[in-house]
Amino acid sequence: MNRLFVFLLLLIPISVFAAGGKVTKSNGIAPDRYVYYPGTEILAEEEIRIIACGTGMPDARRLQASACFLVELGNGDKFIFDLGTGSMRNINSLMIPFEYLTKIFLTHLHTDHWADLISMWAGGWTAGRPGALEVWGPSGTRENMGTKYAIDHMLKAFNWDRTTRSVQITPKAGEIIVHEFDYRGENQVVYEENGVTIRSIPAIHTGDGPVSYIMEYAGMKIVIGGDTFPNTWFLKYATDADWVVHEAFMTPEQFVKYYGQPPQLAWRACCAFHTSPQGFGKVMSTIKPGHAVAYHFYTEEIIRYDVFQGIRETYDGPLSLATDMMTWNITKDGVTERMGVSPDAAFATHGPTRQPPPDRGTPSEFTDWTLKHRWDEGIQPAQKEMLDRHMEKYNLQDQDWREQMKK
Ligand SMILES: [Zn+2]
Ligand SMILES: [Zn+2]
Repeated sequence: MNRLFVFLLLLIPISVFAAGGKVTKSNGIAPDRYVYYPGTEILAEEEIRIIACGTGMPDARRLQASACFLVELGNGDKFIFDLGTGSMRNINSLMIPFEYLTKIFLTHLHTDHWADLISMWAGGWTAGRPGALEVWGPSGTRENMGTKYAIDHMLKAFNWDRTTRSVQITPKAGEIIVHEFDYRGENQVVYEENGVTIRSIPAIHTGDGPVSYIMEYAGMKIVIGGDTFPNTWFLKYATDADWVVHEAFMTPEQFVKYYGQPPQLAWRACCAFHTSPQGFGKVMSTIKPGHAVAYHFYTEEIIRYDVFQGIRETYDGPLSLATDMMTWNITKDGVTERMGVSPDAAFATHGPTRQPPPDRGTPSEFTDWTLKHRWDEGIQPAQKEMLDRHMEKYNLQDQDWREQMKK
């Protein structure tokens, strides 16, 4: 073996270890560990950070929530693309005040892409969000297949929740403003504000309606693909992007083996109304993004290997196989991938705006039938001192409604 080769071999482990930095003394501080601790880094003006808050399947296992990507921009704007089942737990772990999490874009109306909208709606409301949520989403072929219909009826289904919280908390945060747009729009602008442009293109999934989104900010372009069979709109409009996420479904065999699906459904799910790993690779090698991200599969290694190999049959460019909390920073210089590390038991973090108290003129949702069973005579004396201290600490004398609450 020649000496130069031995020398080069020796360099390999050095460069690998150097990536983790080094601790210089026994009680020293660890340098960059190549993880992202939420809330500890300020984005540069021309920088984008994306956190995968859900990457899995509709069955929403504890390991993986369903589809959700949080996009944070250097100008302070935050956007949520899809809010699939279970993703709210990951969003919560980031400890971002809810008043900054109000702009939500839905690719389509399958539960694994929007079922936690209701959790964000109620959870954020109870945890201090002062205002309404805004939701952007596609129309359908009929009125009752569109985003507006879905959200209007979601709020109807949760009418008891909404009405009673409005009385007790504040009504404003229970509102959802819906911006429904034509699902057939090709590269149509659906949002334009503060230097951010978001466009939609149609997707081809289990029926008409789904879309993908393209965001432009500070001269960068990112693409959030909704569930889709590979389509020519994506090839045309998602080219030259700095970062592209697109589904790559599990293989038919994996669906049979690990997802309990009958073989006839397994191949159609993978490869007829979703995108196979090979299909994902073919799309990416055609549009050549700065960085490609695949998601929508179980991320255990026994599955990842097959998905990875399938993709590599048709694409050899930059690639992440997304799992929950994977985090990307995007600048004009390139894309970095890290894992986000956040606590399981995060506290809600409030922002600068406090919710106003409810209007005392709002009719109560109680009847005397219920109220006459309040045990005020036993409980008010027991909690009086503790509540007196609270009223004094926060100057709530004019909102001390203990007397009025009694029957
Ligand atoms: Zn879907
Ligand atoms: Zn899906």
